[in-house]
Order: sequence, then C-alpha cells, then structure tokens
Amino acid sequence: MSKNIRNIALIGHSDEGKTTLAEAMLFNAGSIDRFGKVDDGTATMDFDPEEINRKMSISLSVAHALYQGVKFNIIDVPGFFDFEGEMISALKVADSAVIVTSAGGDLTVGTEKAIDYCIANNKPCMIFVNQIDKENADYAGTVGAIKERYGNKVATVLVPVVENTKMTGYISGLSGKTYKFTPDGRQEVDMPADYADEYATVKQQLEEIAAETSDDLLEKFFAGEELTREEITNGVKFAIGEGNTIPLLAGSALTNKGIINLMIYIINCMPSPTEAPAAIGEAKGDIVKIYCDDTEPFVAQVFKTIADPFVGKLSLFKVLRGTLNAGDQIYNVTSEKVEKASSLYVMKGKKQEPVQKLTAGDIGALAKLLYTATGDTLCDPYNIVKCSPIEFPEPNISLAVSSVKQGEDEKVISGLNRLLEEDSTFKVEKNVETNQMLVSGLGELQLDVICKRLKQKFNVEAKLDDPKIPYRETIKKKVEAQGKHKKQSGGHGQYGDCWVRFEPYPDGDFAFAEEVVGGSVPKQYIPAVEKGLRECITKGVLAGYPMVNLKATLYDGSYHDVDSSEMAFKIAASLAYQTACAQANPVLLEPIMLAKITIPKAYMGDVLGDLSKRRGRILGMDSLGEKDVISAEVPHSEMFKYSTDLRSMTQGRGSFAMEFVRYEEMPTQDAQKVIEQAKKAN
Ligand code: GDP
Repeated sequence: MSKNIRNIALIGHSDEGKTTLAEAMLFNAGSIDRFGKVDDGTATMDFDPEEINRKMSISLSVAHALYQGVKFNIIDVPGFFDFEGEMISALKVADSAVIVTSAGGDLTVGTEKAIDYCIANNKPCMIFVNQIDKENADYAGTVGAIKERYGNKVATVLVPVVENTKMTGYISGLSGKTYKFTPDGRQEVDMPADYADEYATVKQQLEEIAAETSDDLLEKFFAGEELTREEITNGVKFAIGEGNTIPLLAGSALTNKGIINLMIYIINCMPSPTEAPAAIGEAKGDIVKIYCDDTEPFVAQVFKTIADPFVGKLSLFKVLRGTLNAGDQIYNVTSEKVEKASSLYVMKGKKQEPVQKLTAGDIGALAKLLYTATGDTLCDPYNIVKCSPIEFPEPNISLAVSSVKQGEDEKVISGLNRLLEEDSTFKVEKNVETNQMLVSGLGELQLDVICKRLKQKFNVEAKLDDPKIPYRETIKKKVEAQGKHKKQSGGHGQYGDCWVRFEPYPDGDFAFAEEVVGGSVPKQYIPAVEKGLRECITKGVLAGYPMVNLKATLYDGSYHDVDSSEMAFKIAASLAYQTACAQANPVLLEPIMLAKITIPKAYMGDVLGDLSKRRGRILGMDSLGEKDVISAEVPHSEMFKYSTDLRSMTQGRGSFAMEFVRYEEMPTQDAQKVIEQAKKAN
C-alpha cells in the first residue's frame, strides 16, 4: 500500500557514512543476511568495480527492505559534487531525504549543500549525525555548528547519553524513553537523573514545533497543558512535511547504533508518497497534478538508467500513479513510443528481484526498454501525462578526449555515447574548428571516472587534455600590397596581378570591395580575387588561426590577354594577402568569457585575487542573500579547470557559469607562446 512506503534518499558529503547507513538499515530489516563493509568492497550499495576501487559511491543505487510492515526504498547517493546529478535524480523521486553527516564537530560543505538543496526544493529532510562511536566524536559540536547556520529550524529529537565521551544510548524526545545500545539493538533503561534538564529542553522544542501547526494545539500549549505523544508526533511530522522543521538524530551506522531508532522515526515522521506533494505534469497542454493513487491510470518517471552487464539496460523508475503489471504495454510520452514492461524488478543494490506488479509510490526497474532514457515519462497509453523534467546542472568543465592508442577514436566516441545513457550530466561534442572531441561535465573527477569506465566497459583507453582554444587573428594597420603571379616560360602561361588594400574591419569577419578603374583587372577575374581571399582567411599569418575583422579592397592590377585566368588571379590574391597581412601589425585574438561566480562573502578576497592572476576583469558584484555574485570577463584559456580551483578555494561552496562574449586581442607575451606552439605543431 502506498501509505506504507518510505522512499528516502541518503545524501550529504562523501565519506560520512551514507552507504554504511544503507547497509545497516537493510541489515536491521532482514533484507540482507550479512552486514557488508564499504572498506572490504562488500557493501550492497557500492557494487560497481570503480566504486569498490575508489571506496566511494559514484552512482546512486537503490535497495528495498521491509521493516515493521513498511517498505523502505533506500536510495544511496554519492556525495562528491561531481555527481550532483545523481542527487537531483534521487530527490526527484524520494519523498524525503536523510542528510548524513559525521560527528566531526563541524558543518561540512556537503551537509550544508544538501540541506540548502532540500530547503530550496521543498524536500522534507532530516539530519543523521553519524560516527558517534569514534574516539573523537563531537555530537554537541556538530549540532552547534549546524544550529549556528540553520537556527531552530533544526530540532534535535533525542538526547544522547554519553559515558566517557562515548554515546552509549539515548533518550527519545518523543517517548521520553531511555535506551541503551546493546550488541544486537537497544534495551530500555531508566533515564539517568542528570539528563532530566536536557530532555526537558528537547521535549519543549518538539512541543513548540507541534503547537505551531494548529490553533488548537497552540491554545493547549499556552494553557500549560501537556501535548500527547501522538499530538507531538503528528505535529512534528506536519512541520517536517511543510519544510519548517529539520529533525536531527544521531548514531553509528558502522556499529549499528541508533539505526533502529532512525528507522522508526522515518516510519513515524517522514512522509509516505501519498503524503508528499503531488508530482507535476502536463496533459493535453494543461499543467496537472499527479496524485499518488493506485486506482488511477499508470504514470511513472525514469530517474536513472544503468547498463547492467547481465540484463542489459535497466531503467529505474518511480510509479507516480496507478499500478504497473509485468507484461503491460506502456507508452513513453517523451520518445512517443510504445514499450513493453516485460521484465519488472525491484532492486537490491546490483541485484534485481522479479516482481509481478508495482503500485503507486513504489520504486522499481524495467529491463530492456528500447526507447527510454533518464527523465522520460512512462504511462498508460490511453491516459497520456508528461512529468516535469529532471533538471540537471549544466556542465562547467570541458576537456578534450581522445584515444590513447591511435585509430581508436571511434571506439571512444561510441563508448561515450553509451555512457551518456547512464549519466545525463555530461555532454560529448565535436569542436569542428579545433577538430577535437570535447567531453563536458561537472568536475574533473567525473570526467576521470568516465574515462575509467570506457576502459572497464568497452576496453578502450581514453585520455583527457586541455582543449585547444579557437583563437583568431586580425590586423591592426591599413596596408596595401601587390600580389603578382606570373609564369610565362614555355607552354600556356599564367598571369594574375592585383593590388589589394587590407584594413581592420570591426563590423564583421570579412568584407570585400572593389574599386578597379579602367578595367585593370577585368570584371570576370574580380570574383576569383574575392574567392582567393576567402580561402586565405581561413588561415591567419601568425599561427594559422582564422583571420577575422578584415576588409580587403581590390583597387588595381594588370592582366594578360592570353595567360590570365581565374586560377592565376586567385593565386595573386593570396600572395597579396600574405605580404600585406604580415606587415599590417597582425595580432592574435582570444575568446573572452563572461563568468558569473557565486561565493559566500568570506571567500571574496581569495577569489578576486585568483581572478586577477587569470587576467580577469571584474565587471561588478551583486549580493544574493548570504552570497555574492561576481561578474567578470576572463580569457577562456585561463578557465579550463576553474571548477576544480574554485572548489578548492571555497571548500566547494562556490559555483559558477560562463558564456562566450567576444574575441579580444591577446597580450603579446601570451600570444607569443601560442604562436610558438602552433609553429611546433606544424
Ligand atoms: P559515504 O561516502 O557517505 O557513503 O560513506 P561510507 O558509508 O562509504 O563510509 C565512509 C567510511 O566511514 C567507511 O570507511 C566506513 O566504514 C566509515 N563509517 C561509516 N559509518 C561509520 C560509523 O558510524 N562509525 C565509524 N567509526 N565509521 C563509519
């Protein structure tokens, strides 16, 4: 039943224990028999060889578990910012999030970003302070750091019982019961006397939260009457659903302490799919709400595609409405194709378990869909609804990709295209001008993982390089030159002679004019001169980059009655071009980007200093809440790995977007390097 489902995404900074927490929850629910470990490569959710290798999650994974009659669909999400797309996909289908943070005494950037993302997207969430078993665990410091940033929006719902700096149990803020951790779970004990005050504070905050959710409760609260446990639980649940409260719990995933409490809390206080806001879609041109109701026609959204080595393509989806039976004909609204739901599964990490049907609110997988990609809507062919898309962030880093072995570029490209099915946050395109394949994504780590996957899945080695910059060349002086092509010794001769004026032309890439008087260049050869020049300007005189902002005026010349030809005038024009442009103060132009960099104010000095080292020009600064947005123009060549550098300067708190604005003359010293490189390459 839909109301007995909890779709939860485990999100936050990497290495805080999300995968381990998923393992503990699956273990407690009896969904797995063995408590696997990330460090041994045996965790249910980290199964990809690359994940095991790096001991970290790279893609989201899903596992289901049944606990106390409630079906948990746990989505374990990678923490690195490079894989932010996975978090966005997961949160599109999860009805709530558990933000996992270690008890390190601070607010980590990943925690902050995850909380901010949930707040901005109205996703109910809770915080789980993990790793309280560690020697140096600092629960109070961690809570303090989180509260310093989010104030009383974050509500602690338990009081940890600490003995000799270690958390040995907790007092539940809701029930007032005290539990001591035991090797196989927890055991109720008496509340230690010296915890009464702390418990009273926690309880009071929970009562206040509940009281604020209804006039009746508020009245009762102010009249000094105690709220019942049910009233508090329902009130807190309501406040979480509204995004007014973020409950905070604690425990240790690795030693399985406090996890049962967390699971019970999820059951009692986090929304089921029927309680979550309806999904938004479009039907017959109207915006519609898709309510989680299993009696209505079927609608589902695909949130992840996996290339499974055994079953082929797997499309992970959430049933938003209705019921899907194995064998049903379904319609893909996005690709406008009919598909068959022949192989229907639920997931447990890498394993698929066949099922006959899935009802509204549930998460499952379909194998071998032919026309379906991540983000697509699948629905009843007779009731067409299209879900709102999953909005992935735009790539912010582009590198050139090529095969390590010669002649395997095609293999690299086809591999990349296959990998695109699994990850919607990177892009592959060919830059026709530089003749390079570019792969763009959310960070260097992501691009590196993509290369490793090419090797692992398609047995082709690829390497990443800085992309070539599409420089331009132009001239700064007006120069006139003669181009004369004369070959008249023996046989049919060749004769073409033209005088051309070259000058800067700011209004466009190229203009051709003629001022020939008295037929010194016969009419029929003038187009040949223009054609010759147009061919020449594809290669500048300095480093072979296209010549732009150039005007050429043919104003004189001479011809030969027999030996002149179109070809001879074309060659003459090119000679004039070479001679003139070399003398016309040619310069190199480089692409300039407009970068909008969003950073917390504290990093302003560092970021500005760095921009000036990159030859950046600050255009302005705007305030955006607690952050500042710097607008700056920076040469493209200085910005290849800016996403990595900005991250390290701001501990991951900064973001940026950039777009091309124009070409500008490059400083001589920098230009000289480019010219030398071009000479070496030729
Ligand atoms: P994730 O990147 O957030 O998924 O974190 P993992 O689950 O991969 O855990 C990262 C590391 O922290 C691993 O070495 C885990 O064994 C360890 N770890 C996770 N939870 C705990 C915990 O509660 N206590 C301790 N001591 N270590 C933990």
